[in-house]
Formats: sequence, structure tokens, C-alpha cells
Amino acid sequence: MTAKIIDGKKVAQHVRSECKLLVDQMKKLGVSPGLAVIIVGDDPASKVYVANKVNACREVGLDSKVYTFPANATDQEIESEILRLNADPKVHGILVQLPLPAHLNAKKLIASISQDKDVDGFHLYNVGSLVAGTTLFPPCTPFGVQKLLEYENIPVAGQNVVVVGASNIVGKPMALMLMQQDATVCICHAKTRDLAQFTILADILVVAAGKPNLIVPQMVRRGAVVIDVGINRLPNGQLVGDVDFEGVKEKASYITPVPGGVGPMTVSMLVHNTVQSAIRQSGLQLEV
Ligand code: NAP
Repeated sequence: MTAKIIDGKKVAQHVRSECKLLVDQMKKLGVSPGLAVIIVGDDPASKVYVANKVNACREVGLDSKVYTFPANATDQEIESEILRLNADPKVHGILVQLPLPAHLNAKKLIASISQDKDVDGFHLYNVGSLVAGTTLFPPCTPFGVQKLLEYENIPVAGQNVVVVGASNIVGKPMALMLMQQDATVCICHAKTRDLAQFTILADILVVAAGKPNLIVPQMVRRGAVVIDVGINRLPNGQLVGDVDFEGVKEKASYITPVPGGVGPMTVSMLVHNTVQSAIRQSGLQLEV
């Protein structure tokens, strides 16, 4: 068996096209959705991520504005900007690009974002809502995985799902979201003994550990769906995931490549969350 390769770029584009239709409708009704992005310091990777977000917003006609602070900015300076943005009716989504310089209190700054504009879904109110199954802002990367499964008509209910990685931004929300779709979910992490005894049981295996070649074919059940969230830069410059793609694709039924799988979905789901936030805040009844 050779797996079907899930084309994340195509699905991400589909999500953006739907968002654009909604933005066009909103603009005709006098509402211009807006995203505010806060970036602190000169981290080159963060600058690239922010540029990608700005480009995605431009593509769907969403207004985005980047607020750049120097690396030595204080919590108070950033928080007062966030509070101003919370009160600005033209801003429907606010995010703080992470990681922040070590002297800043990231938890406190994220807590100062209005829960109604927290498009990354990292505010504790939204984390709690995610646990309760009622969040308005599912975190973008696991939300992107959920969309990929939905787009490919891959059933989740009743399936054995194994999530490798238990971070707050990927593994834990991923597990919760799939559990809420009635999957039987197991979460593995760095202290899991004999990872393979869990991964081999997975009908759907989601890997988000940040370790190249962590998952090799012997660890994958024949016919499993394999979603690789990992992004790793090898010493030779090559970008790879956490899964031995060439080996595992001969055993899986579906697999995501890196790059071109989950990565493009993350930014599209941010755009989706911002558009949905603008629809809610403006009280419009719209659909595509
Ligand atoms: P993270 O915060 O470093 O968390 C990694 C998780 O993987 C931790 O729970 C860790 O376990 C677990 N882990 C590490 N080594 C393991 C091993 N050998 N076996 C089993 N579990 C192991 O990373 P993250 O932010 O979740 O990101 C994970 C990967 O996804 C990274 O490669 C990142 O670049 C990528 N990523 C991609 C996107 C995207 O848009 N595609 C978005 C976000 C992240 P412990 O909890 O025990 O330490």
C-alpha cells in the first residue's frame, strides 16, 4: 500500500477561499475585519511567521497591523497596547507572537488579551472552554489537523488516536479536540516507555514531538492515517517532520508531507478564527 498524500497547501487554500468570500460579504455590509499582531524583538523565525500571517490576511482581504516592540520592551508597555487594542472595535483578533524575550511575562500578557479577540486560543478562558468543548477559538495547529481529516472525509468517531507530544499548543489541544469527536485518545510524551507499543495501535497517529525520524514504519499499523506536525531543520538545511516519510508512506493509508502538510494549515486557521470573530462581534448572519 502507498498512502494518499494529504495536500495541506490545497486544503489551506480552500479554507482561505471560504474566508475571502466571507470577508467580501462583510465589507459590502460595512465591516472590515482586522487582526493585530504583536511582535517583540528581532527573532528571525518570529519575523518570518509574522510575515506569513500578514500575507495570508492580505490574500483574503483582512486588515492586519503589526505592532513591533524592541527586545527590551516592558510588560507594562506591551500590556497597555493590548488593552488599547481590546477596546478598538476595528480589531477583531489579537495575537502575541511567541516566544517572547525571557524577561517578559508571556502568561500575563496573553491573559490581558480580550477572550473575545484571542484568535490563537491561548487565553486561559479559551483553554478552559476547549476542555469543556465550547471554545470559539480552537488553537490553530490542531484545528488545522482537524480540518485536514474533515476535508479528506477521514472518520474520527470510534477510532484509536495516538497523539505523540503533549505540549499546550499542539499535543494537548489536539487530543482534546479528537476526543470530543468521539475518538479513543492516548497521549504519549518524552517519558513514555516503549512508544511503539502505543503508536502501533493507532488508526490515526498525530506526531508533534520535534524529533526527526521518531516514527519509523515498524511503529505504524498498516492502513493507519499519519499526520506529521513536526518541523525540523536538519544540519544539511533540509526541512523534515518527525516521521520517516518515505518508509511510513508505504504502510499508511494517508500521510501528510513536511513541508506542505500541516504547516500551511496553521496560518489559514488563524485567518478563519479572525474572520469568525469579526462575524460574531459584528452580529452579522453570514455563510459561504
Ligand atoms: P514542544 O513544546 O517542544 O513539545 C514537544 C512534545 O513532544 C513534548 O510533549 C515532549 O514530551 C514530546 N516529545 C519530545 N521527544 C519525544 C519523544 N522522543 N517521544 C515522545 N514524545 C516526545 O513542541 P511543540 O511546540 O508542541 O511542537 C512540536 C513540533 O511541531 C515541533 O517540531 C514544532 O516545530 C512543530 N510545530 C509545527 C506547527 C505547524 O504549523 N506545522 C506548529 C507548531 C509546532 P515532554 O512533554 O515529556 O517533554
